[in-house]
Amino acid sequence: MLVLLLCLGAIVSAQGAEYFENFYNEIDIEDEQAEAKTRNALQSKWQRWPSPTLYYRISSDYSEDEKDNVRNALEIFNDQTCLQFEEVSGTPPAGRRLVHYKKSTKFCGTKVGYNPIPLFGGASHDVQLTESCLSKVGIIQHETLHVLGLYHEQSRPDRDDYVVVDYDNIPRKYWSQFMAMSESTTTTYNVPYDFESVMHYPKNAFAKDPSKPTIRALVSGEPMEREMGQVLAPSEGDLIKVRKMYCEPDN
Ligand SMILES: [Zn+2]
Repeated sequence: MLVLLLCLGAIVSAQGAEYFENFYNEIDIEDEQAEAKTRNALQSKWQRWPSPTLYYRISSDYSEDEKDNVRNALEIFNDQTCLQFEEVSGTPPAGRRLVHYKKSTKFCGTKVGYNPIPLFGGASHDVQLTESCLSKVGIIQHETLHVLGLYHEQSRPDRDDYVVVDYDNIPRKYWSQFMAMSESTTTTYNVPYDFESVMHYPKNAFAKDPSKPTIRALVSGEPMEREMGQVLAPSEGDLIKVRKMYCEPDN
């Protein structure tokens, strides 16, 4: 069973490894799943949410502005995909899992994909957000895309065709954050590699020396520094993957 937390915080350039530890770090529970950490989109249907209607609750300790940020963050899925996020104040309909937006003082993160076995997931699928993460709609959307089954863009199985990772500039304990994955459990859905994805790390993620990139783009086979990732909103590529996972039954 995949029991992972993926996290994201504000992307601010010139931040070092300690900063990213708090925001991008993953917590892996089972060693045999460690290699599955950072693939892009889950392939198996049983890890997708079983209905396009998802019920969510916002913790009562959120401020009104924070509540509005969550509601605004989810609007793009309601407007531009077949998914419908419906807010509930209590429990969801019988047999349905709740997405529960909670407040954390420590980290921002959530499990990836639907957990069909309540023993491991409980009745709710929690999304932990700090006040900092809650202040940015794009970060709430990033975490929600993890809930839906997306991993980080730069971990796609085909990412070596598009980016080069400079491990010399990354503390060894974070190397696992940069793993590329096989095609056996994840898929790109044939969506082109997307540097604008809200799921892409910034160029200097986890850098020992933040003035140098940890991820460079491959341009005509040569590594080049360029901006990548953002925390404003899902890219069109992100939304296409959601539609292929949930709105097109053949995928
Ligand atoms: Zn993440």
